[in-house]
Amino acid sequence: MNLTGMRTYDLDEVVDVVVVGTGAGGAPLLSRLAERGLRVVALEAGPNLEMDQFTPDEREATRINWMSDRFSGGDAPTAFGPNNSGWGIGGGTLHWGAFTPRPDRRDLALRTETGEGRDWPVDYDELIGYITEVERTIGVSGPMPYPWDPQREYLDRPPRRNAPADLVLQGCERLGITATDSPAAIITSDREQPHHGPRKASIDVGSIHQGDRFGYKATTAITYLPVAVAHSAEIRPDSMVHGIEQDASGSVTAVVYLRGGVEYRQRCAALVLAGGGVETPRLLLNTGLANSSGQVGRNFLAHGAVQVWGRFDESIRGYRGYPSAAITEDFVRPDGVDFAGGYLIQSLGVMPLTYATSLVRGGSLWGRELMDALDAWQFSAGIGINGECLPSEGNRLVLSQETDEWGIPRAEISFSPGPNEQAIDEHAIGVMTRILEAAGARETRVLARTAHTIGTCRMSVDPADGVVDAEGRSHDIPNLWICDNSTFPSALSANPGLTQMALSLRTADRMLAAI
Ligand SMILES: Cc1cc2nc3c(=O)[nH]c(=O)nc-3n(C[C@H](O)[C@H](O)[C@H](O)COP(=O)(O)OP(=O)(O)OC[C@H]3O[C@@H](n4cnc5c(N)ncnc54)[C@H](O)[C@@H]3O)c2cc1C
Repeated sequence: MNLTGMRTYDLDEVVDVVVVGTGAGGAPLLSRLAERGLRVVALEAGPNLEMDQFTPDEREATRINWMSDRFSGGDAPTAFGPNNSGWGIGGGTLHWGAFTPRPDRRDLALRTETGEGRDWPVDYDELIGYITEVERTIGVSGPMPYPWDPQREYLDRPPRRNAPADLVLQGCERLGITATDSPAAIITSDREQPHHGPRKASIDVGSIHQGDRFGYKATTAITYLPVAVAHSAEIRPDSMVHGIEQDASGSVTAVVYLRGGVEYRQRCAALVLAGGGVETPRLLLNTGLANSSGQVGRNFLAHGAVQVWGRFDESIRGYRGYPSAAITEDFVRPDGVDFAGGYLIQSLGVMPLTYATSLVRGGSLWGRELMDALDAWQFSAGIGINGECLPSEGNRLVLSQETDEWGIPRAEISFSPGPNEQAIDEHAIGVMTRILEAAGARETRVLARTAHTIGTCRMSVDPADGVVDAEGRSHDIPNLWICDNSTFPSALSANPGLTQMALSLRTADRMLAAI
């Protein structure tokens, strides 16, 4: 993004707020605080890229992913690399799929409803108010009426269907499953984005996870962050935070970071950690802060994301067009099941390396079988879920003995699906296989997968049960806040990006009221 002429602050100046991270959690908050006149500085570990530096080439595009090693264990080790948190100004919104279902009211009351997981200490209607604001600000398009929420309004028509979406919609129709075009943070008409400039309507490319050089996909780098900079925020790229300083009373006084191998210290009156579900708990465990509950790093949640791929006779070429163009929310609470929560389904089209990696990792294919499956890539259409995940004692993040390039112990994350996750996967595999068969698939293949890094500094009313309160403020340190996927009390069946941006604005408003 263009940082020319940006206001800068002295390291010795006590700025009002430092925000660590510029993704879905950090950026909306940064812009809100700046707009209200606070002196704010964002520190971002990754680089600042101009839009013409994004490329559909999957190997080069890893520059927008957090590629420094993380260790992954358990029965279903989380895949890092490109399936990972963000890196660079814009964070995870540089690579996200921009698929933006809203959270379901029932998911925020999971424990009340099912006795499992946790309720969110967040008022649903208030959250929807923030979500509506985010949708208008970043440009979310979607179908109207939306079948599961007919009153809902979207700005513009949804992205055009690609071939996998057509097939999934056909299959659903034949089975009596309600399905429709997806809501997505993709603009389908040209738009002037305040403080960024003109954005062109989607041209339906499939390489959305590799970064968008045209501006049709909403990233925080072309929406919230330009607003922040226009209101005197400073954003420092290539700045990896590794330390937090406190005064005698325990309040945060400064953050310590490395830039170009040199250590810097920025003084601040308040600190917001928005480094994501891995980096925020890693920083807190490394500094030993905000963990009187012992909950930092615990309750790691990964969405169920199992996929089923169908082989068709005709050419599909699912790498063309917006990849997740069809959705059904019919299974957010399926009838006659014995698991808590549910899942939503989206159609899939992926780039070749991503597909190959999924076949190996999720399908255990190798050798001739792998090559045959790859040969069938352009005849294949996929379908996948985003499913609820319950917290479990063994699913957690700890620090490893090995240190990274900044001298910080690497994160070690264990994840094993429990009976609830397994039951959701089994149900979803049955439904998705039937959909693809109804659409004419000759054969189907299941690819095991989980997605997203959530819950490791969860929000709780009881200080013993979490790391931050219902506002996002540390239970232990009054001028420390957390605003990223680590605070989610439960996973939700909706993908997390939109909810995260809404929570970010909510936390900013709570900070403004408190400061
Ligand atoms: C491949 C992929 C596709 C996805 N698609 C979708 C989708 O279609 N819809 C959806 O809703 N969600 C999607 N998501 C999830 C979505 O991207 C995340 O939920 C969201 O970005 C999380 O926001 P965050 O603020 O927690 O972290 P991030 O957006 O990852 O931002 C964290 C930022 O903090 C920086 N940082 C971390 N530690 C430090 C440090 N110590 N010092 C300085 N900076 C630091 C990082 O470099 C990064 O830029 C996808 C995720 C992946 C991996």
